[in-house]
Amino acid sequence: MINIIKKVGWFIKQEWKSYTFMLFMLLFMSLLLLTPAFVLGKAIDIIVSSSLTVALLVIIVGLLILIPLLRYATSFIYNYTVAKTSQKLAFTFRKIYLKKLFQMDAEFYEKYQKGDLISRATGDLDLITSAATSMLEGIVFNTGIIVFAIGIMAFTISWKLTLIAITIMPIGITVLNFIRMKKRQYVKKHRIIYAKMTEKILESVEGQRVIRAYVQEDNDLKDQYKAIDADINSWSYMIKYENQLTPLFELVYGITYILSFAFGAYFIMNQEMSLGQLITFISYVGILYGPFISISGVFQQINNATVAIDRFDEIMKTEPTVKEEINDEKLITFKQIDFRNVSFKYPFDETYTLKDINLTIHHGETLGVVGPTGSGKSTLIRQLLREFNVTDGEIYIDGKNISKFKIRDIRNLVGYVPQSHMLFRRGVYDNILIGNPEASFEAVDKAMQVADFKKDLPYLNQGLETKVGEGGATLSGGQKQRLSIARALVREPEILIMDDSLSAVDANTEETIIHQLKQYRKNKTNIIIAHRFSAIRDANLIIVMENGRIVDRGTHEELISRDGWYKEQYIQQMSMK
Ligand code: ADP
Repeated sequence: MINIIKKVGWFIKQEWKSYTFMLFMLLFMSLLLLTPAFVLGKAIDIIVSSSLTVALLVIIVGLLILIPLLRYATSFIYNYTVAKTSQKLAFTFRKIYLKKLFQMDAEFYEKYQKGDLISRATGDLDLITSAATSMLEGIVFNTGIIVFAIGIMAFTISWKLTLIAITIMPIGITVLNFIRMKKRQYVKKHRIIYAKMTEKILESVEGQRVIRAYVQEDNDLKDQYKAIDADINSWSYMIKYENQLTPLFELVYGITYILSFAFGAYFIMNQEMSLGQLITFISYVGILYGPFISISGVFQQINNATVAIDRFDEIMKTEPTVKEEINDEKLITFKQIDFRNVSFKYPFDETYTLKDINLTIHHGETLGVVGPTGSGKSTLIRQLLREFNVTDGEIYIDGKNISKFKIRDIRNLVGYVPQSHMLFRRGVYDNILIGNPEASFEAVDKAMQVADFKKDLPYLNQGLETKVGEGGATLSGGQKQRLSIARALVREPEILIMDDSLSAVDANTEETIIHQLKQYRKNKTNIIIAHRFSAIRDANLIIVMENGRIVDRGTHEELISRDGWYKEQYIQQMSMK
C-alpha cells in the first residue's frame, strides 16, 4: 500500500482538492448508510412506548425518504469525481509510459515483446489507477462505516454487546490475511501468463494473412487455446483462494449474529436495552458484513496493483544502453565516418555478428555492400542508426567517437530504407511525409519522382490520398519499396541507406532509380546494400561481406578482376540476364 502511495503520491498532492472532497463525501456517505437503521430503532422504541404521534410519524417517514435521496445525490457527485480523477491519473501514467517507450533502444525491444508492453500499458495501468482511487473509497468508506457503526453500537446501545459481537472478527481477519498472502504469488504469475496470451493474440492478428495462406488456422487456434487455457488455469488458482474468503466470512458472521441476538435478548430481559436498540444493533451487524468483505477486497486490489506497479516500474527504471554523453556535439554534416576494429554481438547472442570491421565512408561517395544473406550487411550499416552500442572497437565521425553526438542528430543525418517496409495506416502522401513532416508538396513530388513512385499513382484508387492498410496491405512489394525510398529521400538526408531496397522492383525500374539517385544525390552519401550488382556497380567503393567480416573491397572493376565471391556472383548474374 505504501508502495502505491509512493508511486501516486505526486498525483494525490497535485489533486489534493479532489481527494479531500472525495474523503469528506465518503465519510458523509458512510454516516448516511447507518442512519436508516438508527431512525428505525428509535421509531420502534417510540411505537413500543406508545408515544407515537402523527407529527412524529411524519418526521420519521420524512427522514426515511430524505436519506435515500441524499445518498443518491452524494454517490452521484462522488462517482463523477472519482471517474474524472482516475481517468486523469490513467492518462498521465500512459503519457509517461509512452514517452519512456520512445526513449528506449533496440536492446529493450529485443528483450520485451510487444504483447507484454501492451499489457503493461493497459491491464497493469488500469489496476494501478483503479487502486489509486478505489483504495481511498475502499478504505475510507468502509473504515468509516466500521468505526461509526461500532461507535454507535458501543456508545449509544451497549458496549458489552458490542464487545461480544466483534471479538470474533479479528480471528476472521487474521485467516483472511494469511490467504491473501498466498494469493499474491499467483497474481504475479498470472500477469506474466496474461501478457503471453496478449502476445499470442497480437501475433495471430498481425500474421492472419500468412496463417490463412498456409492454412494454419487450426494450428494457430490450438496455440491460441493453449495460451488461453494457461490464462484460465492461472485464474483458477487465484479464484481458489478468493473462494476461500467468502464462506469463511459467512461462518464468522453466522456466529456474530447468533451471539448478538442471544445476548441482546438477554439484555432486554434484564432491561439493559430496548427492542429498538436491539433491532438497530442487529441491523448494524448486518451492515458491517459488507465493509469487512470490501476492505479485504481492497487489500486484494492493492496486492494486484502492487504487482502491476512492480511491472510498470521495471520498465520505467530500465535505462537505454545506447546513451549520449552529456557534452554532445552538434552534428549537421560530416566529412568521413570510420569504423575501427568494430565487432558486434546482438544483446542476447553468444556469437559475434560483425568481426573486426575497418571501414571509412567518405562524404559524397556511394558505398555498395554485398555478400551472402546473413553475412551481416544490415547489421553493419544499421550501426549508423545508433540502435545498439558496438561490442568492441569504435566508430568515429570526423575523428570524434559516435557516442559524443546526440542520437537524434545522428539519426537526422540518415534516411533509412529498411528491408521490411513499415507503412502506417494513413494515406500515401502522409506515409511519405513521415520522412519529413515539414516537406513541401514539391519536395514530396520530387522524392516520388526519384524513387520512381509517380508512375504508380494512376493505379491507386485515390491517388496520394489512398489509404495504405496496416503494414501497407494494399500496395505491391515493389510499390512499398518505392514509397519507402521516397520517404527516405524527402528528408534530403546526408546519408541515404538502402537496405536491399530494390529487391522487389524489376531491372528497368532499378536502373531508373539508380540513374535518378546519381543525379539527385550527387554530393551526398549513399550506402546501398544489394543483391543485384547492377545497383552498385558504379559505387565508389564496394565491400564484400562474409560471415561478419569484410572479405574484399574495391570498385566493381577491381573486384571482377580478381577471383572471389564477387566475381563468381557477377558471372552468375550476367549469365541469367
Ligand atoms: P544480411 O543483411 O547480410 O542478410 P543481417 O545483418 O541481417 O545479414 O544478419 C546477420 C546475422 O545477424 C544473421 O545471422 C541474423 O540472424 C542475425 N541477426 C539479425 N538481426 C538480429 C537481431 N535483432 N538479434 C539477433 N540476431 C540478429
